[in-house]
Amino acid sequence: MNVLVLNCGSSSLKFQVIESDLDLIERDADRTLASGVIERIGSEALITVRAPGAPVLKRAEPLRDHRAALEYAIGLFRSGDVRIEEASSIADVHAIGHRIVHGGEKLTKSIIIDSSVVEQIEDCIELAPLHNPANLKGIAAAKAIFGDSVPHVAVFDTAFHATMPATSFLYALPYQLYVRHRVRRYGFHGTSHRYVAYRYRQLTGKSREETNIVTVHLGNGCSICAIRGGESLDTSMGMTPVEGLVMGTRSGDLDASILPFLHHKEGMQVDELDGMLNKRSGLLGISGLTNDMRDLLEEERANQDRRAGLAVDIFCQRVRKYIGAYLAIMNGADALVFTGGIGENSDEIRRRICADMGFLGISLDEKLNSATVGRLEGEVSGSGCRVRIFVIPTNEELLIARDTVRCVRDAPRRW
Ligand code: ADP
Repeated sequence: MNVLVLNCGSSSLKFQVIESDLDLIERDADRTLASGVIERIGSEALITVRAPGAPVLKRAEPLRDHRAALEYAIGLFRSGDVRIEEASSIADVHAIGHRIVHGGEKLTKSIIIDSSVVEQIEDCIELAPLHNPANLKGIAAAKAIFGDSVPHVAVFDTAFHATMPATSFLYALPYQLYVRHRVRRYGFHGTSHRYVAYRYRQLTGKSREETNIVTVHLGNGCSICAIRGGESLDTSMGMTPVEGLVMGTRSGDLDASILPFLHHKEGMQVDELDGMLNKRSGLLGISGLTNDMRDLLEEERANQDRRAGLAVDIFCQRVRKYIGAYLAIMNGADALVFTGGIGENSDEIRRRICADMGFLGISLDEKLNSATVGRLEGEVSGSGCRVRIFVIPTNEELLIARDTVRCVRDAPRRW
């Protein structure tokens, strides 16, 4: 069946059409027929569509909302505008998988979307005010276009972390805040951590129960996950994606008392503080230049920019601290897995993170490390290291498509 995978942001829509089914999953033979992104929805939108064997299609078109954007994308295939053989079959969608950021405490597994699921996703808006409303727009747009005859499935970023014990998910705040307002850690990027753990298992032949690894997702958003016995034991993002590692524009961990301090000192109000933590901190905040790791590394190299170098060093040190912490709570792990735009592509960042960790049994093979970039998958461990190191490009869309197939076919989810 053709599964349309949708990932909606506030003004963007990413989509993939993936041919999958239970037998294709079994043979690891499902394939992406087309993928695309529509940005700047609400004004002159930019559309980019890719399909194997076809030239990349780029268009600019005024698209007023997510429904118009999705209609436009489907229309491209229906009209044969995308010059690939299977264009018309791509437009033939049999199921839709929606990436949903926050499922709260109740939505902990991928699920067919009915009106009660929509209500529960709405209930989680207060926990993810930037993300869930956009995800709901995607559901509304797809239902308006395809109706209920095509099944819609929700796959949650938080779901993989539902196995975290209370010792990981509770903050040391008054317990009543958890009871009254669900103030706790949820974790995000769950589909990515789950996918790379699945690939690790395939690469090493380990069973789910034998999967004891630390997965490090470094992209614009960054998070790290301690996976013990195949399940999330702890992860660095918290009630919101701000907690944990240093990210492109998010601060990660900090002393919470800085916020009232800034309120008193600079008169900053709640929204400003929130904007600072989410949009003006992290690599951008420290460097004062950019949130883009590639550009920071270049500034550091070409111009010896001190703050660019500092941003990169702080970024790497935070990852190192978490690796150490997770190896401690797990009583050691068999492997580290790097993924995400930075984790997959930057051999330099991997080298700086793994430097001088011999004490923990972590060392990289320089040659393998520098050769494993650009969506290549492989092991980059140095000889004799106790914790193996892998680079595994993430593929959240594939897991969303597979969960969609399993929900529609009523088959148990194995990963
Ligand atoms: P998102 O979280 O938005 O999906 P990505 O996973 O695509 O983001 O990661 C984007 C980050 O990856 C950017 O900081 C970008 O600079 C970084 N990146 C991509 N390629 C490289 C590279 N070759 N070297 C260093 N950083 C890179």
